[in-house]
Amino acid sequence: MAVAAIHFIAALVPAVLATQSKVPLFPRSNATTHIAAIRACTQLGASLGAPVVQSSGPDYEFAATHAWNLQNAEYQPTCIVFPRTSLDVQVAMKAIFDAKSHYAVQAGSHSAMKGWNTVQDGVLITFSNMQNVSYNPVRDSITLEPGTHWHDAATALEPQGVAPVGGRVGDVGTGLLLGGGLSWLSPSHGYAADMFKELDVVLTTGKMVTATASNEYSDLFRALKGGGNRFGIVTRYEVYPVHTGTQDNKTWTGGMIIYNSSAEALLNATARYTREVNDPKAVLLVSFINLIANGTLSPVYLVTPFYNGPELPADIFGDFLSIPAVSSTLGPMSYYDVSETLGLGDDRGSVQHFGASALVGNEDLFLEAFKHWSNLTTALLDNFAMTTLAFTPIPDSQIQAGRARGGNSINPPSGGFAAVQIYEQLAAGIDDIPPDVQRGADILFTQTPPSAGLPLYLNECDRGQKVFQSYGEGQGLRQLQETYAKYDPTRFNVEHSQGPEGL
Ligand SMILES: Cc1cc2nc3c(=O)[nH]c(=O)nc-3n(C[C@H](O)[C@H](O)[C@H](O)COP(=O)(O)OP(=O)(O)OC[C@H]3O[C@@H](n4cnc5c(N)ncnc54)[C@H](O)[C@@H]3O)c2cc1C
Repeated sequence: MAVAAIHFIAALVPAVLATQSKVPLFPRSNATTHIAAIRACTQLGASLGAPVVQSSGPDYEFAATHAWNLQNAEYQPTCIVFPRTSLDVQVAMKAIFDAKSHYAVQAGSHSAMKGWNTVQDGVLITFSNMQNVSYNPVRDSITLEPGTHWHDAATALEPQGVAPVGGRVGDVGTGLLLGGGLSWLSPSHGYAADMFKELDVVLTTGKMVTATASNEYSDLFRALKGGGNRFGIVTRYEVYPVHTGTQDNKTWTGGMIIYNSSAEALLNATARYTREVNDPKAVLLVSFINLIANGTLSPVYLVTPFYNGPELPADIFGDFLSIPAVSSTLGPMSYYDVSETLGLGDDRGSVQHFGASALVGNEDLFLEAFKHWSNLTTALLDNFAMTTLAFTPIPDSQIQAGRARGGNSINPPSGGFAAVQIYEQLAAGIDDIPPDVQRGADILFTQTPPSAGLPLYLNECDRGQKVFQSYGEGQGLRQLQETYAKYDPTRFNVEHSQGPEGL
């Protein structure tokens, strides 16, 4: 064995010994998986070497503790791979596969799901060294390396007058694409993943393929539009751009309206919007937020309406505009301004918990969801720093735009609905989800079930929710299962990595 490899094993020992007892191990972790991870890391230390592979030191510590959800910042991977190229990812994946090691992939780190973007007794691949963004005017396409954050993409591309259909919050990363992706540009262009043009994907064996809508990997291409981390590691996203103009092109109108009361009127307006508005130039996010400090609850309701035109049409947004607000920033905007409205969202250090529902635009259903969410908040108040119930209307124009590009694995039925996000930020000092909170959230999910036939949103779900099953029969779940069996016949990913279930 090479001297470098022996040094590498020595460096691994502290990381293995320091395994924290409060972090539950991967369901099937045992002595064998410890050894498998060490074998993979040793192999990688010898083949890729430092600084690409690290098991201690400042870069390791930063990467291991940087996850947005505090629960995911407490794992200690056996080693962390910081790839510079797709080839590094291929080498890493082959070593992981050969050693039968557990592994995880991290891009922007914003997954709220415990264990989905990090790993104990395994190899973490993190993309902080792959953050290039470029626009090719000849191909008229944007290339995003997987470590890109949406603010950086928007800033790099704005001078060229283009933008990707990307996230609404700046620090979030490209993992958003693999769950589907809800963007300010979605009503006109579909889920963010609907804009995929070409994807480089490293399969579990380490083999790399380039998938497009029409080549021999078109089934993989479709599965990656909503299949999350299950179908391979994407090392290059080539996406169609939207020609949004530069910062000087104030072609949009909108901003943020803040309310601290009138919940019922806002819920009615949101339900009506969800049911009736199908204008691809209009987009809306409505977030009911409870801020909690010292046992006191302060409601803050944020409405962010935008229209790609010179004014907010009264027949679309009039209900919201007529409700008395605390403040408003409405005005002309460039698309870049729109994309910056919600800021970076890069605060870390709290336990975060997501859950999802999906509702047709019905006033009674929206009000019921609000009541149950309010009850959860007040019943368990001391556990929370913040609770949020957010509605993203998904108009039929978004669904049809996705179908026009070959469809996605989310497979939503025709007609509009709202993706509903149920979100709790736990109070300072809490470092895991208390059982009461999980029970309360589980009850809330049964009280607020998705309307018949509607898909849950993978990126904003609780890890126990059956998201793939909600994609429906035929083109949905069954096709996803068949594609998974074809590209990962030994089921390596589901056996060795955490993520959505149902394959
Ligand atoms: C503050 C905040 C704002 C948000 N706003 C939006 C929004 O506007 N629209 C929206 O749709 N969603 C939004 N989300 C949800 C967001 O889409 C998910 O949290 C998403 O998973 C984040 O991607 P990431 O790269 O930051 O996270 P990560 O945790 O790094 O990745 C998420 C998942 O994808 C996997 N993954 C990442 N990269 C790869 C890859 N290259 N290959 C294979 N698997 C990979 C990871 O293993 C993990 O399972 C928001 C979340 C937060 C916390």
